[in-house]
Amino acid sequence: MEIRVGNGFDIHELAPGLPLRLCGVTIPSEQGCVAHSDGDVAIHALCDALLGALALGDIGKYFPDTSDEYKGIDSRILLKRIFEMVKERGWSIGNIDITIMLQKPKLAPYILEMREMLASEMDLDMERISVKATTAEKLGFVGREEGIATFATILLLN
Ligand code: MG
Repeated sequence: MEIRVGNGFDIHELAPGLPLRLCGVTIPSEQGCVAHSDGDVAIHALCDALLGALALGDIGKYFPDTSDEYKGIDSRILLKRIFEMVKERGWSIGNIDITIMLQKPKLAPYILEMREMLASEMDLDMERISVKATTAEKLGFVGREEGIATFATILLLN
């Protein structure tokens, strides 16, 4: 068996009055992501981890943020398209581990729903999907509630 690891990282600016979507779940929040797409920073990091594992480039290569076609697009569509590319090449998911850095609101009440959403979108056992959240202890741009950052790691099996 061959294995591959991939990592992804994404940052978005936060602004008042915009929706906050993470792993396809809308989170009640005073602020949301400034973005060309729906701003789902967690799915963007996951897409980059999938592409990274197979050295296929990054999300911007396939879905440029200059294209009107992707304006406001549901990031779950991007994830599905990228996951198809991975499956077409004969790979399956070992596990996914996502860490979301956000000062406010607390994400603990939504973790299960986010895992369920990714499991359903990717047709995977939820036990293979971890979503974790941390604040930035009020430090830096995340701590000042100016932005959100997400890391994703993925293991692929062939
Ligand atoms: Mg992004």
